[in-house]
Amino acid sequence: MSKNSEEEKLERILKEGLDSLWKKEKSEHQIIKGVYYPSYIGSCLRKQYYIYTVGESVTSEELVIFMTGKGIHELVVKAFGEKVNVESIEAKINLEITNKIKLSGRVDIIIADLEGKKYLIEVKSASKIPDNPYESHVLQLHTYMQALNFNEGYLLYWNKRDGNIRVFKVIKNDEMMKKLYERIVMLDYYITINSPPPPESYQEGKKWECKKCPYLNICNPGPL
Ligand code: SF4
Repeated sequence: MSKNSEEEKLERILKEGLDSLWKKEKSEHQIIKGVYYPSYIGSCLRKQYYIYTVGESVTSEELVIFMTGKGIHELVVKAFGEKVNVESIEAKINLEITNKIKLSGRVDIIIADLEGKKYLIEVKSASKIPDNPYESHVLQLHTYMQALNFNEGYLLYWNKRDGNIRVFKVIKNDEMMKKLYERIVMLDYYITINSPPPPESYQEGKKWECKKCPYLNICNPGPL
């Protein structure tokens, strides 16, 4: 069934509204060389390079996914707040990597006290709960653990398709910390020399990421 003009108009207005919300959110953090984001650092290095050199942009599909995730985050915070004392929501962190490079971001939830213990939690909405947490999320969580001096953190996956929830405990480890530092230094290097790094997602066979990547045309990694 083809869409009529009013259906198209409502879809367009919603997308424009989402775009406006996204721009407001992004205006709170500027894209500056040397300041990198924990939530991006595990994703395709080449995509991050484009964010810093071409400018940040999203496809309308990414925008809907991003906003869905945001809504789920808010709901999780609210639900925890019904039962336990939430110490902070979106606590800002800064992690210095070198004197010219730092990671800056916000950790989703810190539970103040649950049976005498503090919990650092990062929430992820997904279409499928993985058997093990995704490495990109583990790297992100390592930034927060390191910055806030936690030896463990928790990744909470919320399956938006079937309603399942799963929590994974992650213990901070040197191997992940090394990987995190290496990725940041590498990203900064490519931005400094103004040359894109290899098309990481494509080379790792994550073509679904390339298909929704706003930089696909510039990157041109190969057949999808
Ligand atoms: S198209 Fe794929 S490889 Fe290229 S920047 Fe985007 S995600 Fe990375």
